[in-house]
Amino acid sequence: MTESNRLRIAIQKSGRLSTESQQLLKSCGVKFSINEQRLIAHADNMPIDLLRVRDDDIPGLVMDGVVDMGIIGENVLEEEQIERQTLNKPADCLKLRQLDFGSCRLSLAVPTEFSYADASSLEGLRIATSYPNLLRRFMQQKGITYRDCMLKGSVEVAPRAGLADGICDLVSTGATLEANGLYETEVIYRSMACIIQSTQTQSPTKQALIDKILSRVNGVIRARESKYILLHAPTETLDQIVALLPGAENPTVLPLNDDTNRVAIHAVSTEDLFWDTMEQLTALGASSILVMPIEKMMG
Ligand code: ATP
Ligand code: MG
Repeated sequence: MTESNRLRIAIQKSGRLSTESQQLLKSCGVKFSINEQRLIAHADNMPIDLLRVRDDDIPGLVMDGVVDMGIIGENVLEEEQIERQTLNKPADCLKLRQLDFGSCRLSLAVPTEFSYADASSLEGLRIATSYPNLLRRFMQQKGITYRDCMLKGSVEVAPRAGLADGICDLVSTGATLEANGLYETEVIYRSMACIIQSTQTQSPTKQALIDKILSRVNGVIRARESKYILLHAPTETLDQIVALLPGAENPTVLPLNDDTNRVAIHAVSTEDLFWDTMEQLTALGASSILVMPIEKMMG
């Protein structure tokens, strides 16, 4: 019995995406507790089951319709999509939206002593990677032939171990590359986590639940990107002050008790307010500036 009336969402069991994937779903009001030994976590308050698996398995589970949704890095999604297209296996899924975590890049890197001009410097050389399909697509576009060295892990030690001349691996800060005597020469793919849906979900009740989750995800991310700003401003610099608040075109302006020269401004800003903007606001006479996080947003 593989069909279920409950919505199945696949998330990474443990790794770079797991905490934030769980946190996102919790912020969307899905209540669950994780038992480390268990593959499945049942939500207490909604007909949702979380499937906790290796991230590599998530795109395939969604594309085969085994689960309805998944949270996955775009790098892994696209790698699996190309792989399946080559093998004529189901490769479709709907990318519902990009998320605000899991940022990384897939890059080419070579040993410090390697003199690299452009990707053609790798012509005929061996490149170690866990992303053979994304690498092949990039190299084909550039018209460069190279030799594969497929490694699921420890890609960064391949050149030193004499297994490859360069690597194509995920980078976020570059510290791992540096520690292995490598330097980044070319970004071939930029990735964030994303939320995907199976094209095989048919039940209208499940679809309604997916729509609800997606709308809450939108609200959570919008709230995380926004700030609530309160400040006092002199009336004569009001317009200049409002112009400095990022994405807050129509703030609420309220009178202050016993002060006709100053007003209170309440605004939702679509970006964080940086220190230099706060200093510019103060220079225009603003005072009592408060910048507060927003927990939820809708409408
Ligand atoms: P699993 O055991 O689930 O297969 P993994 O070792 O393949 O885990 P992680 O290292 O946990 O995967 O990375 C998961 C995803 O996190 C990556 O595919 C990528 O989308 C994202 N990510 C963000 N920053 C980095 C980084 N610096 N290095 C690797 N992946 C990163
Ligand atoms: Mg993996």
